[in-house]
Amino acid sequence: MTSQKSAEETEAGKLFIVGTPIGNLEDMTFRAVRILQEADFIAAEDTRNTIKLCNHFAIQTPLISYHEHNTRDAGEKIIDYLQNGKDIAIVSDAGMPCISDPGADLVELAIEHGLAVVPVPGPNAAVTALVASGITPQPFLFWGFLPRQKKEQKAQLAKLQRYEETLLFYEAPHRLKQTLRNLAEQFGDERRIVMARELTKRFEELLRGTLAEAIDWADSNEIRGEFCLVLEGNHEAPKEQIEEWWTGLSIKEHVERIIEQRDVRSKEAIKEVAEARGLGKREVYQAYHVD
Ligand code: SAM
Repeated sequence: MTSQKSAEETEAGKLFIVGTPIGNLEDMTFRAVRILQEADFIAAEDTRNTIKLCNHFAIQTPLISYHEHNTRDAGEKIIDYLQNGKDIAIVSDAGMPCISDPGADLVELAIEHGLAVVPVPGPNAAVTALVASGITPQPFLFWGFLPRQKKEQKAQLAKLQRYEETLLFYEAPHRLKQTLRNLAEQFGDERRIVMARELTKRFEELLRGTLAEAIDWADSNEIRGEFCLVLEGNHEAPKEQIEEWWTGLSIKEHVERIIEQRDVRSKEAIKEVAEARGLGKREVYQAYHVD
């Protein structure tokens, strides 16, 4: 067990994880402004966006770039600054860094180096959508962006189908239609969904209904803006069906068990395991033969 007391004075700098608005600048917190003003550097996902935020709040702290393509080099530089006593505040384009945004690698790296990581909470699209959705807020499972490829997305949704938790997804507007169809295919037309669009902005809209209604809406409207999806959990599956007999087995063990129990060839067992787990046959083949 290690203990970090965030308020403790340290020679090394601190890494502040700072939440910023998801649309409405009035959602910026007083503390976020102060921390960004006082930090030695702001590590920003996109400095062009963050400069606008800084100008609005009279923040003159120098910006450095930290995004998904330079996490390694920029990460090392930031650790170096922290070790030399500089405070760094990390921000993303909107909302909380680390949540479907850069930052998590840096947090891990800072902790590995024994540096203090201080959260400065702010808005988050998923939780904002959840509280206004009218769908049971807990337990919930935040998924973020689903895989883009249709096949991988379907396999992922097949795994989530049985979950009782309210599910939270992010989705890009141009992929929304297809994702809604994939959701309906796995979860059924009647599963309740709330599409939270343009949260905190002028055109904020909460579209509440079933998956079938969401598809109708998407088919007859121009899909614009940012969307967060809140999907009702599976309240129909009886408890005993949720745990499959193979839960807890690795893919390889699952295949071996089927071969043993049914006296079938590996090819057939792989096919069955892939279907049961909603995975591709190749993935199961790989896990059985190679891993
Ligand atoms: N870190 C952010 C957070 O804490 O919410 C999320 C960043 S992620 C790259 C961007 C996605 O969040 C968008 O594609 C959309 O799904 C969702 N999102 C962000 N702002 C939103 C808003 N104002 N309304 C609805 N969804 C939003």
